[in-house]
Amino acid sequence: MQLLKEKILSEGIVLNDRILKVDSFLNHQIDPDLMLEIGKEFARRFAEQKIDRILTIEASGIAVALATGFILHVPVVFAKKSASEIMNEEAYVAKVHSFTKKITSNVSVLRKFLPAGEKVLILDDFLAHGEAAVGLASLVEQAGSTVVGIGIVIEKQFQGGAEKINVKGYNLESLARIKAFENGRVILD
Ligand code: 5GP
Repeated sequence: MQLLKEKILSEGIVLNDRILKVDSFLNHQIDPDLMLEIGKEFARRFAEQKIDRILTIEASGIAVALATGFILHVPVVFAKKSASEIMNEEAYVAKVHSFTKKITSNVSVLRKFLPAGEKVLILDDFLAHGEAAVGLASLVEQAGSTVVGIGIVIEKQFQGGAEKINVKGYNLESLARIKAFENGRVILD
């Protein structure tokens, strides 16, 4: 996706050898026009699939999922990162380790918002080690539904997430792929 790639190159800030900051258009301030194009692109890439629902994770996945939901006209659900005791009984829960925050947390979705027998598209802003994506896929499978695809806005190819997803047989589509960070610069695939 050319527009996205240009944004990454012009506005992305390489924080260290692992993390890219894109808070001017994706992670803090949001560019709504770009987001709508991202939604259209995901809808196009998964056009062969019948999608009943989109699942993402708070916070930055929400804008991506909502933009795609506008195009596909399906419900959008986001997993929450902190589950209360009460919520646990009525929720599907998966453990996800965040390497950016260096914590493992329970991510959860109320069962009523993840019905059985559906085809679910998982979307997120970044793919690094694949923890969030695999955790979301676990929620879908706990619900007795099927993951029809995983869509990622920015994949960092050097952190192994794609391999983790491919081993599990999920269909992965990334809109921009980063090959490496070199001398504080982004090298796109
Ligand atoms: P993973 O679970 O694949 O290791 O990491 C993906 C999650 O961590 C995403 O939901 C995203 O919020 C966050 N993340 C991973 N790498 C980056 C990064 O380079 N920049 C930002 N802003 N978030 C990241």
